[in-house]
Amino acid sequence: MFGTDEARALHSRHPAIDLHADSLMWSRWTGYDLHVRHEAPLPFAALGGHVDIPRMIEGGVGAQFFGLVSVPFPTRGLAAVIDEQIDRLEQTVRVNPQRIRKARTAADIRKAAADGTIAALLGIEGGHALEGSIEKLGHFARRGVRYLGLCHFSANELCYPAYGSGRKDDRGLTDFGRKVVIACSELGVIVDLAHINKRGFLEACALAEHPPIVSHTGVLGAFEHWRNIDDEQLRAVADKGGVIGVIFCPRYLGADGIKPVVSHLKHIVNVCGEDAPALGSDWDGFIIPTKDLCDAARLPLLTDALIKEGFSEETIAKILRGNALRAIEDNPVPA
Ligand SMILES: [Zn+2]
Repeated sequence: MFGTDEARALHSRHPAIDLHADSLMWSRWTGYDLHVRHEAPLPFAALGGHVDIPRMIEGGVGAQFFGLVSVPFPTRGLAAVIDEQIDRLEQTVRVNPQRIRKARTAADIRKAAADGTIAALLGIEGGHALEGSIEKLGHFARRGVRYLGLCHFSANELCYPAYGSGRKDDRGLTDFGRKVVIACSELGVIVDLAHINKRGFLEACALAEHPPIVSHTGVLGAFEHWRNIDDEQLRAVADKGGVIGVIFCPRYLGADGIKPVVSHLKHIVNVCGEDAPALGSDWDGFIIPTKDLCDAARLPLLTDALIKEGFSEETIAKILRGNALRAIEDNPVPA
């Protein structure tokens, strides 16, 4: 067990919501079983194996967004790969619905917490998974997908990446990209601005009817890196009532350990206020997480660091849970 009694008690009052972990990609590839407790990856260097239900319970994680990933080559069968990851989650839930259930709304997340069950939510990473079809977005929304990351590491039918193949910094959203952002509002799909270039980011942010999120990112104000976003981007999201999930990857944070995570969160608070920061670990996402937060069980260590830094319980509760919950609630799902 990690963290002080004080931090752990805080998690039991405010079970954390993490905006991004790619565990279902491993389930699909290797049969990784979320019900089984895996040992923490040693020597804190593995690219996956960071999340499972026993360690989410230990770490006071109440709700986990699972990123649905498809590698954009070859270019066909991208949507099918997303469906297979959703199938994986549904199989996992069927094994023991008392332990984990699919959730869509803030009410679902609250109900799961009351029942002592992990809430599993779904988000797509990269608009290429739509294969150029708005209908596919509707299909995924009906299967419970709650956010769409418009971009991943390559240009697609919607937009251009901040870094990666087909990068074009002077281009914003395509016509199809604009249609998708508008369709997201109608379908109850949150617009996720992780990985997209700045021009597309600001355009999608302005166009989104409901609060957008950045599911997993670092911030340039805390560390200069191409993967991170600047203060103008932070303010644009916060002005729309959106939230920014801080990634746990030392490459983007600037250094290893918990301190850099705290300083990125602090920068968001300084620029946008305390209603904007959230958690976006990127566990199981082909990153090597910072060693002190290398799995879900260790999350109370971050809470301890925030307490030490002088954050109030109210603010920590917003970072762990409240801000993400509000953004989910402010993106209504059509009946
Ligand atoms: Zn990512």
